[in-house]
Amino acid sequence: MNIEEYQRVYAKINLDAVRENFDNIVKVLRPETKVLAVLKTDGYGHGAIPIARELEDNDRLYGYALATSDEAFILRNSGIEKPLLILGYTFPNAYEELILKDISLTVFRYDTLEQLALECRRLSTTQYNYKAHIHIKVDTGMGRIGITPDEEGLDFVKKALSYDELIVEGVFTHLSRADEKDRHPTELQIRKYKDFTDRIEQELGYHIPIKHISNSAGIIEYPEANFDVVRAGIILYGLWPSEDVSKDKVPLKKVLSLYSQIVYIKEVEPGTPISYGGTFVSDRKMKVATVTVGYGDGYPRMLSNKADVLAGGVRCPILGRICMDQLMVDITDAPDVREGDFVTLIGGSGAEEITMEELGDLSGRFNYELACELGKRIPRVYTRKNEVIYKKDYSDDF
Ligand SMILES: *Cc1c(COP(=O)(O)O)cnc(C)c1O
Repeated sequence: MNIEEYQRVYAKINLDAVRENFDNIVKVLRPETKVLAVLKTDGYGHGAIPIARELEDNDRLYGYALATSDEAFILRNSGIEKPLLILGYTFPNAYEELILKDISLTVFRYDTLEQLALECRRLSTTQYNYKAHIHIKVDTGMGRIGITPDEEGLDFVKKALSYDELIVEGVFTHLSRADEKDRHPTELQIRKYKDFTDRIEQELGYHIPIKHISNSAGIIEYPEANFDVVRAGIILYGLWPSEDVSKDKVPLKKVLSLYSQIVYIKEVEPGTPISYGGTFVSDRKMKVATVTVGYGDGYPRMLSNKADVLAGGVRCPILGRICMDQLMVDITDAPDVREGDFVTLIGGSGAEEITMEELGDLSGRFNYELACELGKRIPRVYTRKNEVIYKKDYSDDF
């Protein structure tokens, strides 16, 4: 397959890097701890299915975590057999399919327990009793979803355990500040979680099969919180949860790079306005190139007059406002660049590199958001050993 086929803009996803990141994550875990690979928002914009397939045969992989039932169905329907867990609230209209497809869901409301049990009873026949697999979410400081780690929470767990139709697979919590320098809030969350799960095991006599806390920052910074499973998200993609984590502990390789093409080059005289609003006016003779990517592709308009692209390994500043489908750059310092050349918007070229973090900072967003928002108009091209092995064009889905 030929990458050049994608002439306007494309994202290259390096599957070797995904594997390498996974292996480096595993190296800092205890041998019995497994990984739940977080593939929500189509694998943080990288493509959930190809990444799931890349990791599926790894014996340190427990399964995959998604945010919504639809995301879980997409993976299951694509042939993924490992456990799937939905991390957020799941709406009752999905319960039947979730039960039939053996997808686990997160619970923290009494009505969910009741409705799931009812659905299992409705589906069951004299030959087969359907059961729903659940993970109970505990709120230890995130303030988002989850039962409280106290007497009331314990009642909830007791109730969940009382249904024959429900299998309590796991009890988990989420760290809200593990990516910060201050360790106190996270240590407190870990302690609350431990105390609560101890109470479940001692007072209710139930051994929790799968305990899990850690997100990417937790994996890096709090090895004591890596229980049966860890939930690895952003680091799988070679991106850091924040600037404050120790980057030497888990070596990472960036998975995604983004390219677009120069379709027009011109010389402009001093005093020439570029793009909508004339927010940039040349103060000298310059060479301007038009590149075929814009905010309609998820390249943030906030980067107007701020970010650079790499053309011929040279940093070239964006001139004026980014349009929906195109943008202009100053290529005066990259004399060898021609029409038809590709520019790098994210990734390395020569000695230079533009990272998701850099663009996140410049656009007042952050790296997670930028990755998730790369648009469906951008084809994803998957490589192994620099060879294209698979491509995903979303245009069929419009
Ligand atoms: C998104 C998410 C994760 C992964 O977080 P990263 O910082 O990307 O590792 C883990 N757990 C829950 C509950 C999440 O929602």
